Amino acid sequence: MSKTTIFEYKGTSETVTWDRRLCIHVGECGRAKGDLFVTGRDPWCDPNLADRAKTAEIVARCPTGALAMHGEDGQLVEATPTYNEVAISNDGPLYVSGELSVDGAADDMQSVRRRVAR
Ligand code: SF4
Repeated sequence: MSKTTIFEYKGTSETVTWDRRLCIHVGECGRAKGDLFVTGRDPWCDPNLADRAKTAEIVARCPTGALAMHGEDGQLVEATPTYNEVAISNDGPLYVSGELSVDGAADDMQSVRRRVAR
């Protein structure tokens, strides 16, 4: 039996996805103000309750790439950063952002081209 790994939250003009393989429960999504993510609500994420710019900004805060925003064509909607960055956390992973190519990443992990924790 296969287990769902990518959950989709469809809005009228964009879709937010959450990839359980990448989430390490840092909690940036839960700390976001507004109604895009509400813990305990079903669905937890509703892209129709935030404008596109706010949705993109909140999704981009996810440091692991577990959250991603896709346009109507299914492609990743996230600008390529102008520089690459590595943030070192105490006793934690390295948080890498930029224009990335991650060895071993599954083909359907589109967001790790922008953000990943290793
Ligand atoms: S911000 Fe990303 S890594 Fe953190 S809990 Fe939310 S989805 Fe998971």
